[in-house]
Amino acid sequence: MTQSTTLSAPLRLLVRLPLWQQILIGLALGVAAGMAFGADAQLLAPIGTLFLNAIKMLIVPLVFVSLVAGITSMQDSAKIGRISLKTIIIYLVTTAFAVSIGLLFGALFTPGEGMNMVASGSEQAKQAPSLVSILVGLVPANPVTAFAEGNILQIIVFALTAGVVGSHGAEVLLPLAGVIGVIYLASIAHVLLVYGGLLGLLARLNPLRFFQGIAPALAVAFSTSSSSGTLPVSIECARKNLGVSEGVAGFVLPVGATINMDGTAIYQGVLALFIAQAFDIDLSAGQYAMIILTATLASIGTAGIPGAGLIMLGLVLTAAGLPLEGVALIAGIDRILDMARTTVNVAGDLMTTTLVGRSEQELDRAVYDASNKE
Ligand code: ASP
Repeated sequence: MTQSTTLSAPLRLLVRLPLWQQILIGLALGVAAGMAFGADAQLLAPIGTLFLNAIKMLIVPLVFVSLVAGITSMQDSAKIGRISLKTIIIYLVTTAFAVSIGLLFGALFTPGEGMNMVASGSEQAKQAPSLVSILVGLVPANPVTAFAEGNILQIIVFALTAGVVGSHGAEVLLPLAGVIGVIYLASIAHVLLVYGGLLGLLARLNPLRFFQGIAPALAVAFSTSSSSGTLPVSIECARKNLGVSEGVAGFVLPVGATINMDGTAIYQGVLALFIAQAFDIDLSAGQYAMIILTATLASIGTAGIPGAGLIMLGLVLTAAGLPLEGVALIAGIDRILDMARTTVNVAGDLMTTTLVGRSEQELDRAVYDASNKE
């Protein structure tokens, strides 16, 4: 019997859909199952954990192999230097835009206004650590310990969340819906204006074709919340749908999945303001400067795995002298925010790849302009 006769009709239809549609259907089914079965749906959680652990296990070899393949297929060392410089400059410029948009939206929509949270004082950073110690601390001597410590922070956070919601109830939940809305809005604005604008104005490419071409990577990013885990799909989209050469895609994308996190930068910017508003703290110019600096550094230092940005939020808050309880306030909704920021992170990597590819004559216009993307 052939495969098509053994599969039922709806299933046959499903496997014929493009990857991104299959993923979104899976996501919707997951949400439906969660709503239908409530706490019992937790039984399925180990499958997700297994999947994410598999992603984490793959990251180092994945990034390493993609980079080696990218660099070796370029050969010309002067070209590699030029591409590296362009990549870093575009990553930095778009991150600066991201932090600014995050702060702008946070200040404009004031999602934390009226929450009247009171910091207990015990978690509030008594004294912000010096800039040098933050910079030095960004590079962990032992990444394994860093991850382990990260988990401990997360565990503390989840012990705290229940208390926050329990004692403040619905008044806390409504602004949380507000902050989700503001972060999604800022993310969409960043992707459309900054990425669409750069592609259209700088590279003279049709942004619509770009978004069409990267849809599979965005769907994977949205559902896995891991830009490193999305890397293979990003590389495939860049090559098959955008027409970027193997060398440029293989070099720019792994670097981006590791250091370029515009979505995370937007998130840090909005949340720093949200938490200051929620705790009625008037920010000084110095605190603003600290937020801009640490949000940028945190976005660079964030690992491309689920929940990493939340840990970095602790660093931004500490540096700006804001209450760490803010992390607990956000922890419960962080996954929803992670989906948005990871999608922006991946879109940013792909946009940079397209710009670099175009400027190096490493982008096949016929492939990019084709309307029938996979
Ligand atoms: N989950 C994000 C990513 O993989 C990182 C973050 O948590 O901000 O891109």
